[in-house]
Amino acid sequence: MAEVYRTGARAGGNADTIVIHCSDSRFQRHFQEFLEKHLGLDNYGLLAVPGGPQFLTLVDYLPKFSWVGWRWVQFLVDAAPPRRIILIAHHDCLWYRDSRFSLHRGDVFERQVGDLQRVRKAISGRFPGLAAELYYARLEQGEASFEPV
Ligand SMILES: [Zn+2]
Repeated sequence: MAEVYRTGARAGGNADTIVIHCSDSRFQRHFQEFLEKHLGLDNYGLLAVPGGPQFLTLVDYLPKFSWVGWRWVQFLVDAAPPRRIILIAHHDCLWYRDSRFSLHRGDVFERQVGDLQRVRKAISGRFPGLAAELYYARLEQGEASFEPV
């Protein structure tokens, strides 16, 4: 019989925050540390997919991606109505470097920030009163920095 692993006890209850960030393995521990230590979140709903919140901007280009993404967000909102939504993009995102999923050419940082802002606007339209907080993460020599954008 397989050995059962048990975590330590943690605070329960419904999360009041939704986080959407990229699934890039290089950033996962840094995202978690930023969310827990800097923002003080101990419980949040998470969508971690390649490219992070960008999939919510693809209404015209990849409408099925966008439809599924908004269904997931709606599900999380219905499951535990959030007080905050945190959107994080990051430097050297492989999803943005893949030309199949990039609508626009030009500076990647500007595209990512533009996408974050478009998603924030869409969230405020779909969920009035719910403001998204936007951050951009960079990784240098094993340390990550997070700046509001
Ligand atoms: Zn990424």
